[in-house]
Amino acid sequence: MNRVLLKLSGEALAGDKKTGFDEDTCVTVAKQVKTIVDKGVQVAIVIGGGNFWRGRTSNKIDRTKADGIGMMATIMNCMYVSEIFRTEGMDTNVYTPFACGTWTKLFSKDEAVADLNAGKVVFFAGGTGHPYFSTDMTMVLRAIEIEADCILGAKAIDGVYDSDPAVNPDAKKYDELSISKIVDDRLGVIDLAASVLAMENKMPMLLFGLNEEDSINKAVSGEKIGTKITVE
Ligand code: UDP
Repeated sequence: MNRVLLKLSGEALAGDKKTGFDEDTCVTVAKQVKTIVDKGVQVAIVIGGGNFWRGRTSNKIDRTKADGIGMMATIMNCMYVSEIFRTEGMDTNVYTPFACGTWTKLFSKDEAVADLNAGKVVFFAGGTGHPYFSTDMTMVLRAIEIEADCILGAKAIDGVYDSDPAVNPDAKKYDELSISKIVDDRLGVIDLAASVLAMENKMPMLLFGLNEEDSINKAVSGEKIGTKITVE
């Protein structure tokens, strides 16, 4: 894999705290990413916002505004993780789909790809810029736009199961699963709109556990890890 889009959930940044940032966790992620950047893999990153806020956190306020807060949560996450990456010796840029003063750059495919070619890690913050979407949608959209080879979904769980392993001890992990099955059976592995976009544009994904040792490196090296989402 030469160019990947890595998706981290907001919760993954919070570690055991479940909310906000856990600095040790983020440094561990940065060290893992540095290993693959040093090998010459180009890395773009999308981060969720669930460690701060989700649009559905409030049933009281207007959804459009609630989603706006969610998008801003993803910007805080990307700014923080980008700075942690810099302390670990990587060069970074944060892009947003709307202007955020001097904190971020306005997203441009050409500029982001130029950064990737120069060995920088780019962050796509602020989601798609639209309410009623998610960072799953952002990851698929941006992966297609930058012509990534694959999406790497680093999750709290080590792959996709046929039922919830926290509830069913006999739950079986899939080694491979097709995107059309995810769409047809509404499996909810990633949100439906994002799954359809990945299916139509044949964007493959690998979903694996972030906590597994060396997991990001294993994923790009083609070692057997997590669940591969096939697109043919
Ligand atoms: N969000 C949005 N549009 C986007 C991306 C994210 O409105 O394109 C908002 C939405 O409110 C979401 C929150 O940002 O709940 C955090 O994103 P994430 O994907 O982590 O949320 P989740 O899928 O867990 O709700």
